[in-house]
Amino acid sequence: MKFDEKTLSILFDQLFEGIYLVDTERNITIWNKAAEEMTGFTKDEIVGHKCMDNLLVHVDTEGKSLCTGNCPLLQAINEKSEKETSVYLHHKNGHRIPVSVRIMPIADDSGTVTGAVEIFTQANSKKNLEERVKELEKLSMLDPLTGIANRRYGEKIITDRIAEKKRFNWDSGVIFFDIDNFKSINDNYSHNIGDKVLKMIANTFRESIRSFDHIARWGGEEFIVVLSNINRSQFKERAETLRKLVSESFFYDEEEKLSATVSGGATMLDENDTVQSVVNRADKLMYQSKKNGKDQITYE
Ligand code: GH3
Ligand code: MG
Ligand code: MG
Repeated sequence: MKFDEKTLSILFDQLFEGIYLVDTERNITIWNKAAEEMTGFTKDEIVGHKCMDNLLVHVDTEGKSLCTGNCPLLQAINEKSEKETSVYLHHKNGHRIPVSVRIMPIADDSGTVTGAVEIFTQANSKKNLEERVKELEKLSMLDPLTGIANRRYGEKIITDRIAEKKRFNWDSGVIFFDIDNFKSINDNYSHNIGDKVLKMIANTFRESIRSFDHIARWGGEEFIVVLSNINRSQFKERAETLRKLVSESFFYDEEEKLSATVSGGATMLDENDTVQSVVNRADKLMYQSKKNGKDQITYE
C-alpha cells in the first residue's frame, strides 16, 4: 500500500514526535502538528522552504551551525544511511530547544534516494513526558464520539464498586441501557444523525447523574450507569428519572423532531460479583425490557 503526501501528513499529525520530510534539495514538504507545537513555526511558514533557510537553523552542542556544513539530513541523503543525533532547534520566539533527532533517507522503488525524514522529540523535558502520559491516560479512558468514559473506564468503576461492597458493604447499582430501535434511526435518517442521537443521549446521562455517579459508553448504542451509595428504592427512582430524561431529549433535523428512548436492566451489586457477572445480569434484564415493549427498565 502506498500513501500520498496528504495522507501521510494527516497520519503524521497524530504523532507526538515532530516530523518533517525534505526532498533531495532539502526543500521541506511535510511539517506535522507536533513540529508546529515544539518550534512555534506553522506548516505555512515552513513547507516550501529549505531547511537551511534561516528558520530552524539547527546547532550542535557546541553551538556550531549544522545547516551550512555538517547537515545530518544531507549526510543521510548522500550516504543513504540513518543518523541519530542531538541538536538544538531554533524556536520561533528565539530560544533554543534541545531535541533528539533521528534521520532516515527515503528511497523510491528503484532505490534512488528522493529525500529524507527527520523525526525529533524534545530531549529532556520531564514535563513533556508527564503531559503525554496524562494525555494518553485520558485518551485511553474516553470515548471519542460522545466524550463520555469508554468501556474500559466502566469496567474499572464497576471493579472499584465491587471492592467497596466487599470491604465496607456500601451499596451500588448498575444499569445497562440500550437505545431502542436505533438501527431504524440510522436507516431512516443517516449514520450522521444516528451519531447525533447517540451524543444527545450520552449528554443527557452525563448532565443528569450526580458527581459521584458514573456513565460509560459500553458499546455501539449501549451505556452503563453506575450509581453509588444507594439503596434499592433510591436506585429505582433515579434510574427512572434517567430513562424519562432521555425520552424527553430531542433535537431538530430541519423540520423533523428527533428523539429516542432507552431500555434498561438494573441490578444492585453483590460482593461476589465480577464485572462480567454484573453486566451479564443487567444485560439480560435489559432484554426483558425490550420484550415487554421497550422504553422501560427491568429490575432484579
Ligand atoms: P433494539 O430496540 O432491539 O435495541 O433495536 P436496535 O435497532 O437498537 O438494535 P440493533 O442491535 O439491531 O441495532 C443497533 C444499531 O446501532 C446497529 C448499528 O449500526 C448502530 N450503531 C452502533 N454504533 C453506532 C455508532 O457509533 N453510530 C451510529 N450512528 N450507529 C451505531
Ligand atoms: Mg445493542
Ligand atoms: Mg438497540
